[in-house]
Amino acid sequence: MAEKIVPVLIVGGGPVGLALAGDLGWRGVACVLIEQSDGSIYQPRMDMVGVRTMEFCRRWGLVGAVEGSPYPRDYAQDNVYVTSLAGYELGRERFPGIGQAAPPPQSPQRRERCPQNMFDPILRAFAASQKSVTLRYRTRLTGFTQDADRVTATVESADSGTREDIAARYLVGCDGARSLVRETVGITMRGNPALTYTTNVIFRCPDLVSLHDKGKAYRHILIGPEGTWATIVAINGRDQWRFSLIGSATQRDYTTAEIEAAIRRAVGRDFKFEILSVLPWVRRELVADSYRDHRVFIAGDAAHAMSPTGGFGMNTGIGDAVDLSWKLAAVLQGWGGDGLLESYTIERQPVGARNVAEASGNLRRMLSVSRNPEIADDTPQGAETRKRVGAEFTELMRHEWFTLGIHLGYRYEDSPISWPDGTPAPPDEAGTYQQTARPGHRAPHAWLADGRSTLDLFGRVFTLLGFDATAAEAAPLVEAAHARGVPIAFVTLNEPKAAALYGRKFVLVRPDGHVAWRDDRMPDDPLGVIDVVRGAAPVAGADRVGWVSAAGA
Ligand SMILES: Cc1cc2nc3c(=O)[nH]c(=O)nc-3n(C[C@H](O)[C@H](O)[C@H](O)COP(=O)(O)OP(=O)(O)OC[C@H]3O[C@@H](n4cnc5c(N)ncnc54)[C@H](O)[C@@H]3O)c2cc1C
Repeated sequence: MAEKIVPVLIVGGGPVGLALAGDLGWRGVACVLIEQSDGSIYQPRMDMVGVRTMEFCRRWGLVGAVEGSPYPRDYAQDNVYVTSLAGYELGRERFPGIGQAAPPPQSPQRRERCPQNMFDPILRAFAASQKSVTLRYRTRLTGFTQDADRVTATVESADSGTREDIAARYLVGCDGARSLVRETVGITMRGNPALTYTTNVIFRCPDLVSLHDKGKAYRHILIGPEGTWATIVAINGRDQWRFSLIGSATQRDYTTAEIEAAIRRAVGRDFKFEILSVLPWVRRELVADSYRDHRVFIAGDAAHAMSPTGGFGMNTGIGDAVDLSWKLAAVLQGWGGDGLLESYTIERQPVGARNVAEASGNLRRMLSVSRNPEIADDTPQGAETRKRVGAEFTELMRHEWFTLGIHLGYRYEDSPISWPDGTPAPPDEAGTYQQTARPGHRAPHAWLADGRSTLDLFGRVFTLLGFDATAAEAAPLVEAAHARGVPIAFVTLNEPKAAALYGRKFVLVRPDGHVAWRDDRMPDDPLGVIDVVRGAAPVAGADRVGWVSAAGA
């Protein structure tokens, strides 16, 4: 009997592992995901699903599930800066309830508020619904080895304690910040391993909003005489709140009495509440040197650990999963070269480093308020300080609240699998995002006459867009793709708005929705272009020559 080798083994069933399993399954690739826990969320961490992640959810058919999750869609999403909830308000950034917010003009989707205990089950159901995906909970990776053609992983059942080996072509560690997969292959993390030792407390108090005069808000940032010291977040928009004692770079533990006193201080009065969970954690600023070691990859928090300020962690990880998934599919299906797999680190590691740095910048801004002993005093001096601090802080914090550029503006500048067109890159700024079909960037969104988004044209295969072009005109590239077994669809568009955004008559979009190549005419060497974008050859004349052999292809 032939030995069974799983194409992809995914370790970790957090949001990133589940997204990877779902996307692989959506591409028809068989994979097994193992997760040491039963999947219950002890304490929800992420709750902001970014615009790009929502665009992936749109592709996967999950928008309805996210919009239908129980987080109340009319719950105001304001960020409020206060001395305490019942105390003075220093400033506020107003945001409507998620359901009332319009998507940005650059996307068919808006960001969503869907806490992890609601979002993980959506991703889990998506992954489980794919025929080629097997999810195994309460199954822990204990170790693995790899050789030239496989990875052999040892896993242990939490129920029976039995161990077994699973052979896989590729292994992806989505096993979080303390990744065993990363440690086993010896990938190092660079940066700061401990920005703060923070303590998160989920408490229940159904009538918290009625205990103060600030109204409904998503996030309250607590600023006392010592500066910014805590936050309270509406974690489910109903009765549960996440209180974070931000802490410092020095580790310290809190007693229950200290935590209760801190919560009362933050609310500004005595009141009844129930502590549901306490989670001390370390805020890090780390990114892996490499996301790959031969047949082993890492994604999500295993590859980058960042401060939650900004809500980039999971969203960056899901970007990793989407980038890696089609490349693994291509190689397993026989039309992708090893250069595709090698491009994973080249494309995603700079995005990880960028987002980690941005998240730390947000933390620094949040903690930048200096000592103001009089800030909560009912005196003219106190009022003056509150006015000054409130104005400065409100302005400063806008940087964190408006981050479309982070979510949509990442680009694969030095990617060996995109064909540069010589045009200059638009600025990469957190707060602004300029759509462009320059190779390496996210292919732009424009509404089409039939009500679809251009984004709805991309997904399982390469898409060659031809603006006012015929199939005969596009034939050289399409035939070259066929000759190499690369799945491709040609779409002709007579859409002036989209044509202006895409900037060229022909634009080749990868299965993950990034632009691979564009020009006003067919290339002189269509096979050469196809070989580059499928990771089988370097761009002719590029100084990246050698990357294929360096990857051991
Ligand atoms: C307070 C807070 C708020 C946040 N808010 C946001 C936000 O709004 N938006 C956002 O994008 N990000 C946010 N983040 C970050 C986000 O939660 C993480 O980036 C995200 O959970 C990472 O997902 P992951 O799947 O990579 O890792 P994890 O969620 O850590 O999942 C890893 C999984 O691997 C499993 N595992 C580990 N080792 C093994 C093993 N040996 N065998 C089997 N299974 C194993 C673990 O049990 C776990 O389930 C926040 C983080 C915090 C702390």
